[in-house]
Amino acid sequence: MVETNDTEKDKTFYEFQAEVSRVMDIVINSLYTDREIFVRELISNAADALEKMRHVSLTEHGSAVEDVPLEVRIELNEKDKSFTITDTGIGMIRDELVTDLGRIAFSGSREFLEKMADQLSKDVHLIGQFGVGFYSVFMVARQVTVRTKSYLAMSSGYEWTSSGASGFHIREMEGLPRGTSITLELRDDAAEFAQKNTIQQIIRKYSNFVSFPIRLDGEKVNTIQAIWARTKQEISPEEYTEFYKYIAGAVDGPLDTLHFSTDAPLSLQALLFIPRDNFERFGFGKTEPGVDLHCRKILIEKGAQDLLPPWLRFVKGVVDSEDLPLNISRETMQDTALIRKINRALTSRFLKFLEDKSASDRTGYEAFWKTFGSFIKEGIISDYDHRTKLAGLLRYETSTTESGTLSSLDEYIARMKPDQKEIYFMTGPDRRTLEASPYLEVFKERSIEVLLCFDAADDFVMTHLENFSEKKLVSVESARLDLPKTDGTDRAETDDDALSSKEQKSLTDWIRKVLKDKVAEVRVSHRLVGSPVLLVTPDARMTGSMQRLLEVMNKDVPTLSKLTLEYNPSHHLIRRLEAVRGQDARFAETIVEQLLDQAAFSAGYSVQSRAMIDRMSIIMERALDRSESGPDPV
Ligand code: ADP
Ligand code: MG
Repeated sequence: MVETNDTEKDKTFYEFQAEVSRVMDIVINSLYTDREIFVRELISNAADALEKMRHVSLTEHGSAVEDVPLEVRIELNEKDKSFTITDTGIGMIRDELVTDLGRIAFSGSREFLEKMADQLSKDVHLIGQFGVGFYSVFMVARQVTVRTKSYLAMSSGYEWTSSGASGFHIREMEGLPRGTSITLELRDDAAEFAQKNTIQQIIRKYSNFVSFPIRLDGEKVNTIQAIWARTKQEISPEEYTEFYKYIAGAVDGPLDTLHFSTDAPLSLQALLFIPRDNFERFGFGKTEPGVDLHCRKILIEKGAQDLLPPWLRFVKGVVDSEDLPLNISRETMQDTALIRKINRALTSRFLKFLEDKSASDRTGYEAFWKTFGSFIKEGIISDYDHRTKLAGLLRYETSTTESGTLSSLDEYIARMKPDQKEIYFMTGPDRRTLEASPYLEVFKERSIEVLLCFDAADDFVMTHLENFSEKKLVSVESARLDLPKTDGTDRAETDDDALSSKEQKSLTDWIRKVLKDKVAEVRVSHRLVGSPVLLVTPDARMTGSMQRLLEVMNKDVPTLSKLTLEYNPSHHLIRRLEAVRGQDARFAETIVEQLLDQAAFSAGYSVQSRAMIDRMSIIMERALDRSESGPDPV
């Protein structure tokens, strides 16, 4: 920030931080159609300043501060085209004026706004969430004057002026009352914002629940309603919706509402909402906690960090507890046993709510699951205490249900074969890929249901979960499947076309020799039907995609060399391989190497494409040479 001495006495010019100019530009130009939000931004800043003042006056500094009513006043002058908003909040000292109104709070704001400019012009309610709300005034004002005096004893008053162009001036000013007064000289095309009707409507729309009186040209406009403190029966659905829109800055109502109070072991009132959208899915970055902590309607912390576990950060709402000490600070709050108690109470109540919903309203719950399932999965991975309960909320498609139909793990278990001991799952990008996978063959053949998981996070979910209802979760890629018995016979031995056990043993030894330590083990498969080979893993929960993830993360994990290659002794290709290897060992070796690569590839491991392509060429040449002399006798 460049500071230069002005010609005018006592007046200092500051240049805006480079980011500010750019953000201002984006805000002004891409939000042009919804200029009215500047009113809400100014009121929300005033309300913040008043809330801080109320807090201060209730704590140790309280006795020293001047006792003036906490309120917001808006004065309009149609003739001069001016808009003035005044609050009796904490005000700002000189440093705050310079940094808070001249800098951008979040370092990522500019890049974000640039990326999202289009989206933001549709969802203007988002703008306040990025710490750039104040700049919205320059959408309508040619000149902005901020007069402010901090509540702190000994601080003097200041006047801040800017036309939004390159920077701002600050000078000291005597005789100002505590608080902040902001005057906008409206541009000609924004004269409507000096009209009482217009402003009244805007306040009702956005700022109805502000818990301080807002007076417009002397008349009180807002209705103060901390509805969470009232009993459910008295509150209409419209009131809930309106309240939600206000606290969440949302344009439509919530997906669901949970309103309850408890007396023992601790007294609290909670009004929690599930929003309609999951903004993390739109690439907005991590959602900030959205539940405000109050004590007897006085805000203690907005978006309180430890009130709920991180995986419930999508929940919006208000929690009010009389048991909280009023002068609690953010630092001490983190390890307050009381906050942990509230957290536990809220979490188990919320889980119960979801459980009940999934039982009573299947479609409703599935809508929730589709939008917020990722948070449930995150909870399973990160929150040991709630893992089991969360697992009950999981929903998956399965190999025996229709596409789009979801099942819970309990429902899966209820359908298990009488002697089935394990829950089987497979992961992959989509249903079609999984249905075509060789791993599913044996399950299809024996009509054993398999959970189909299409989300990369599911690998982690299954690894962390291990068991559900005392049933082991087992990947279909596992080397040790404890499949329910069929008629007790083994296909590899009973199949007429299969290689004899003597041939099998000698072929197994030979493949082992060819592949050496490329795999840990070679053996006859008891599960393959249509595919010649398959790679299976020693860890029941490990999948190819998990393996790939861990490889990327450079963890010590079983690589290909620790896996087992299984082959299908009834498969035509394997029988031919056994027949040919005596006559043309070199070519048979090429085929084995190719089979390994194919198995690795379909299990999601990376393979060396160059070697694979070279081998493919050799094999194709061979096939074409053969074709010249007519089709092969089988
Ligand atoms: P945000 O409100 O998200 O922090 P804004 O751009 O709206 O971002 O405001 C920037 C900062 O300027 C506020 O955080 C606050 O410190 C200060 N500020 C703005 N308006 C007022 C006011 N009326 N009283 C006191 N401080 C204010
Ligand atoms: Mg703000």
